Amino acid sequence: MTDTTPGLVCGHHHLYSSLARGMPAPPKRPGNFLDVLNQVWWRLDAALDLDMIYWSAMLGATEALMSGTTCLIDHHESPNAIEGSLDAIQRACDAVGVRVITTYGVTDRWRDDGSLVQDASLPKKMSKAAARGLGEIKRHAEAGYRTMVGVHAAFTCSDDTLQASAALAQDLGVGVHIHVSEGREDAGAGTRLRALAADNWLLVHCVHLKEELQGTIAHNPRSNMNNAVGYAQPARFKNRVILGTDGIGADMMDEARLSYVAHRADDIHATPETSWSWLANGSDFFPESLNDRVTWNYDHMDDPWHLAFTTGIRPISITADGAQVLTNGLPSRVDIKEVRAKATEQSTRLHAKLAA
Ligand SMILES: [Zn+2]
Repeated sequence: MTDTTPGLVCGHHHLYSSLARGMPAPPKRPGNFLDVLNQVWWRLDAALDLDMIYWSAMLGATEALMSGTTCLIDHHESPNAIEGSLDAIQRACDAVGVRVITTYGVTDRWRDDGSLVQDASLPKKMSKAAARGLGEIKRHAEAGYRTMVGVHAAFTCSDDTLQASAALAQDLGVGVHIHVSEGREDAGAGTRLRALAADNWLLVHCVHLKEELQGTIAHNPRSNMNNAVGYAQPARFKNRVILGTDGIGADMMDEARLSYVAHRADDIHATPETSWSWLANGSDFFPESLNDRVTWNYDHMDDPWHLAFTTGIRPISITADGAQVLTNGLPSRVDIKEVRAKATEQSTRLHAKLAA
């Protein structure tokens, strides 16, 4: 029995989505997953500028810390503010005291004239935007920051872009962080990525993945339900599995609880140990998180059978790298009221842009 844990790890986040909450309704009601991307996320990411990215990351990182999450693997896209975007996210996470592995998610869905490829046709060659995205990743990595090489998804990328991303990852000695077969639109990803994927890749979702691919799988049960893409059945894979939120906050205790109940809804033999082992696997990406000390307002933090059925557990204090980063449930280094006020200013700008 204990009231402490290591720092929790969110294995797949989109910090830029922190300002999406309350955004104007899309012009057309989405009828499938591709519609959701077209109508919501690809409009939102195109509207982002560097101030929005910074305060969105500040809000997301602060809320992560207040949930006991000290480490994030982020996946970022902002086609009209590519250069400097990873620095903005890094600065925000550093200010809060949350570790981050950043990446820019390259894609060929933006034509060189800036228009969006809206159908499901596959791009033939690498776009300028994808090349700029790879440049941003390279710059950030060479400045000494932790990064991966991000790819949106195989179905929005040419073979050129997939190959160049895999090659850059190899040059930098890091993995590729890519959405894989999230919806049926991307069911062909396994075949296209098979010859490229490596052990250090991070394969996100894998709901419709049939092939064996090398890499770690990031399972995001809440997002999968929200997008009605189906249940990924992560227990069927031999790969290591970690848990992410896909941008819906970073409350990993809550995500683990939902992961268990989604597993159980699919299989009466499922036990909480499986979901909590997926949560614990995140520390493979941030070994130093094991030295973080999160003290919670609950005393069975070492027992998945307690945690799966106890809602509303909160951290009281956190030390990371020997320094206090959370005190009485609030961030020690930044003022939560100021973060919320600045984030609201930026979300007001963002939503006005989307409504225009
Ligand atoms: Zn995602």
